[in-house]
Amino acid sequence: MSVSGLCELCSTNEIVDGCDRCGRLACEVHYDRETGLCTDCLKESGGTPDDEPERQPDGPDGVDTYQF
Ligand SMILES: [Zn+2]
Ligand SMILES: [Zn+2]
Repeated sequence: MSVSGLCELCSTNEIVDGCDRCGRLACEVHYDRETGLCTDCLKESGGTPDDEPERQPDGPDGVDTYQF
């Protein structure tokens, strides 16, 4: 799909793609290719999706390390 026109967020740069969430067309400055969201939606969703660190088991140390 090719889109042309100006970014709906800054009205300055050329559109690269549309936001998957709000559907607005954004330039490369205002569009995040990794998430497919515009920068506005990125902010609303609390930053990058990868930002939420999964709980990691608190150190395998001391569990299976005893060898006699
Ligand atoms: Zn823009
Ligand atoms: Zn958006």
